Amino acid sequence: MKILVTGKGGREHALITALSESPQKHELFAHPGSDAIATLATRVEAASLPELITWMKNNSIDLCMAGEEALLVKDSGLSNLCAEAGIPCWGPRKEIAQLEASKTYAKKFLKRHGIPTADFTICTNVAEAKAALTELPIVLKFDGLAAGKGVAVCTAKDEAEAFVDDVMEKRCFGPGDLLVEKCLTGPEISVFASVCDDKYQILMPARDYKRIRDNDQGPNTGGMGAVASLELAAPDLMQRIEREIVQPTVQGILKDGLTYRGFLYFGLMLTPTGPQVIEYNCRFGDPEAEAVLPMVRGDFATYAFEAAKGNLQPDLISFEPGWSICLISASAGYPASSHSGDVISGLESVSGARVYHCGTKKNAMGQFETNGGRVLAIVAQGATRVEAREKAYAQSAKVTFDGLQRRSDIGKMHFE
Ligand code: ATP
Repeated sequence: MKILVTGKGGREHALITALSESPQKHELFAHPGSDAIATLATRVEAASLPELITWMKNNSIDLCMAGEEALLVKDSGLSNLCAEAGIPCWGPRKEIAQLEASKTYAKKFLKRHGIPTADFTICTNVAEAKAALTELPIVLKFDGLAAGKGVAVCTAKDEAEAFVDDVMEKRCFGPGDLLVEKCLTGPEISVFASVCDDKYQILMPARDYKRIRDNDQGPNTGGMGAVASLELAAPDLMQRIEREIVQPTVQGILKDGLTYRGFLYFGLMLTPTGPQVIEYNCRFGDPEAEAVLPMVRGDFATYAFEAAKGNLQPDLISFEPGWSICLISASAGYPASSHSGDVISGLESVSGARVYHCGTKKNAMGQFETNGGRVLAIVAQGATRVEAREKAYAQSAKVTFDGLQRRSDIGKMHFE
């Protein structure tokens, strides 16, 4: 089979690695890919989405797997254009990818289908937004894709008002409404499902660590680490999540006259009154993918190919018992900025752990150097959380670069 994955980060490196470890050998391609991904997949350049579709058609691509979210809603949508070209795509069509691209679409969807989520107000101007700041703490969300940076959990009124100004007056993230949301409390969990029309399979759950510093301090990032295990959530909790959230979501999509094929991420908060949806993502999470995918056994490539054609076969894959822990190494200045060009040393000495490249490039001397905020995901597995954590930290410690930032508490406790 010829398989093309869209994206260039750690998640795509993990997806391509999982495809490359499927029992049969497949020809793998990545758009745009990265220098690290190029060891497993041929990089494909395309100036536009239609150009990419033409390339896939001319090169008889059998399966397109969506990694990054952006192309799903670009132009007419990656999946829509693949369908027109007769290429199976594991990733949803543009209409339903709004679940991720528009937070107001997602909130209205959740309310319409009676799925638990925080109460909210949609504000279209500064005055409305400021009037909605009636209680503290309060959560403010820009209605659009902002790479995890368009959300502020505010404990003080002046902080909330400053964020309103950033979003609605300075338009820091571009045009878009602001969602003012009730602040929920409880541990967070990332639940993933493969959704294929009216069928679904719940995958291994994970937990990601969004804040830059230990003990969940400092600003939000794209994710500084992740823990994955079937033991992360007790069976009765997973059943409740399935009954109250996953099933009504799959049914809700159908009731809305739409279909969904691809990974669907449920960002949940386990509140004292039960699990509530914080957000949907229409693809695998990053860095959760880097933690979950090494735990997949079976034929991942055939699984995705069949599911993309409408034939979900849960038995084609299974998940390892035990724990998987992913540690992100970020560059100097992240998340406010990032630093490129710092040479990474020690990569060759890592053993017994996987290294996925999130933001690196090769320099003229053939060395990998930093090229973005999140640089590397180093992932190890173990029979217990403690064993996985010790392995991941021991291997990560071998890898350094100037200005490296890494949390030291990933997987330290089951739920903080
Ligand atoms: P990402 O795509 O990086 O996950 P995002 O920008 O789409 O982030 P959300 O996932 O909606 O934003 O929110 C980011 C984080 O803010 C959540 O993981 C959670 O920690 C916090 N958060 C969001 N909504 C609420 C809420 N209603 N109550 C409390 N905390 C919240």
